[in-house]
Amino acid sequence: MTDPKHDPDCLFCKIARGQIPSRKVYEDDEILGFHDIHPWAPVHFLLIPKAHIPSLAQVTDADAPVLGRMLAMAPRLALQEGCNPYPDGGHRVIINTGREGGQEVHHLHVHVIGGPRPWLKG
Ligand code: AMP
Ligand code: ZN
Repeated sequence: MTDPKHDPDCLFCKIARGQIPSRKVYEDDEILGFHDIHPWAPVHFLLIPKAHIPSLAQVTDADAPVLGRMLAMAPRLALQEGCNPYPDGGHRVIINTGREGGQEVHHLHVHVIGGPRPWLKG
């Protein structure tokens, strides 16, 4: 088992390392998926790289494979978690980046949000 680089003060690093519990939807060596604690919609989960990357603003070419995998798995996990199929169903994929971008937790994460409307927001 690898030990990805982490920030001991980071909430999502603690979740990635199992130090804070989460409701998992997916896990492999480099990616964790878990339900958002304050869901906007019937389906709302987050995908994170286990390695600490503060935001999309710090991403380099070396991170492209893990980012690509996170995006590629989002639709399959969305269906697994209860989103309806494209095109009448579907889901939103959001990466908030920086304060003005609405980012509150500074460990890169992809929101996957969907399910039958109405939603709380979004
Ligand atoms: P953002 O505003 O893009 O940084 O989103 C951070 C998200 O993390 C919010 O939707 C929060 O509800 C969610 N969140 C915060 N703490 C936890 C936690 N302990 N477990 C799951 N989701 C969390
Ligand atoms: Zn982190």
